[in-house]
Amino acid sequence: MVMTDNIKLKYFIETWGCQMNEEDSEKLSGMLKNIGYTRTDDINEASIILFNTCCVRENAENKVYGNLGMLKKVKEKNPDLIIGICGCMMQQKGMADNILKRFPYVDIIFGTHNSYKFPEYLNRVKTEGVQVKEIFDKETQIVEGIPVDRESSVKGFVTIMYGCNNFCTYCVVPYVRGRERSRKPEEIENEIKDLVSKGYKEVTLLGQNVNSYGKGLEEDINFAGLLRRINKIEGIERVRFMTSHPKDLTEEVIMAVKECDKLCEQIHLPVQSGSDRVLKVMNRHYDRARYMSLINKIKKEIPDCTITTDIIVGFPGETDEDFEDTLSLVKEVGYDSAFTFIYSRRNNTPADEMEDQVADDVKHERFNRLVAAVNDSVIRGNKVYEGKTVEVLVEGPSKNDETKLMGRTRNGKLVNFQGDISLVGKLVNVKINRAQPFSLIGEVI
Ligand code: SAH
Ligand code: SF4
Repeated sequence: MVMTDNIKLKYFIETWGCQMNEEDSEKLSGMLKNIGYTRTDDINEASIILFNTCCVRENAENKVYGNLGMLKKVKEKNPDLIIGICGCMMQQKGMADNILKRFPYVDIIFGTHNSYKFPEYLNRVKTEGVQVKEIFDKETQIVEGIPVDRESSVKGFVTIMYGCNNFCTYCVVPYVRGRERSRKPEEIENEIKDLVSKGYKEVTLLGQNVNSYGKGLEEDINFAGLLRRINKIEGIERVRFMTSHPKDLTEEVIMAVKECDKLCEQIHLPVQSGSDRVLKVMNRHYDRARYMSLINKIKKEIPDCTITTDIIVGFPGETDEDFEDTLSLVKEVGYDSAFTFIYSRRNNTPADEMEDQVADDVKHERFNRLVAAVNDSVIRGNKVYEGKTVEVLVEGPSKNDETKLMGRTRNGKLVNFQGDISLVGKLVNVKINRAQPFSLIGEVI
């Protein structure tokens, strides 16, 4: 009896998309654990399967459809299985109905604004045997105090603000995540103090544009002020943040990173394109000169700061010349890493209506050239570390080789090395022997 109950109380959760979605999934997991469920990675032993979706690009959506299709057989074998689907994709107009039509065996559908209500929906499905579909069109007040079941015991995400007001012309995020809302600084501080008390060493502050933190709060505080306050929290060793929108990154923030000992020397500054003309049509509100002046300022003030970015190729109207501008910018900045994307048409965004869409083969050809340019820059940046000793926060066994440990330098470089598992959660000095394209190999000294 107890055995079967245990089997019944397992959930499987799959997350697509950005760190915000990962953090949301940690909360969904936290809520499920709170009501007695345990997590499983085996879909066949789960009594709840939950998909937390992303819609920022079309291929993210296609993966969700593929996975939902596969569940038909699983549900036939196990009619008591509860299938839930949530996240950004569900916030799109007509999407929930479309899902129910194509996959009628889905039991619960909810969006990004009401995920805190998941336990209530689950209860309704279980006690009333109904299908629940509830999407809020608008953001609500921030709901605090949701339990979080974190992936790591060393580092954690802390959301500092929700939503986005920027409406870049290619992007669905503002439509599915609502307008910007900042959490109160004391709520953020309390969450970090709680993490410290549980042994966490590192936090990453999350927001679509962390630089506009603080707007609309009673207290007069901006992002630089928040960083300085967080830097005073005892016991936290490292603080990172993402994402910084170049239009709002201030000198004050750069100086906070320079001066505060816990703020790591790493800035993620998505450029999207190196062409002024494209940046304008993207509605990014900066040009190449402004972007480069930020980069030069960062390099001058924080010499070992790593700079990472996001880049889109094949935005409507992007000419060969525009693309060459992106390539030359990649060289000029010398990125330490970059997320590269092929432009994906998103319904109801201004860029989708633009007539001069770029042909797929051109997009792919540019994408390959961009990836080569980024790799070149990453490898060059990594080579510099050969022979140097770096401080590494040990996160756990290496993903590719379980006999090794992995961790990161202050500025976010991935390091693999031999070491005892008892080092997890500790700061160790590692001498780098070899630089690989995506990691550094070293030994503890
Ligand atoms: N708020 C962050 C990014 C959120 S989305 C910022 O402004 O930087 C993450 C990345 O996905 C974006 O930076 C962009 O490079 C990419 N992206 C967003 N919409 C896209 C689309 N329609 N096609 C391709 N890439 C897209
Ligand atoms: Fe999307 Fe632009 Fe907002 Fe980033 S800033 S989430 S790219 S609209």
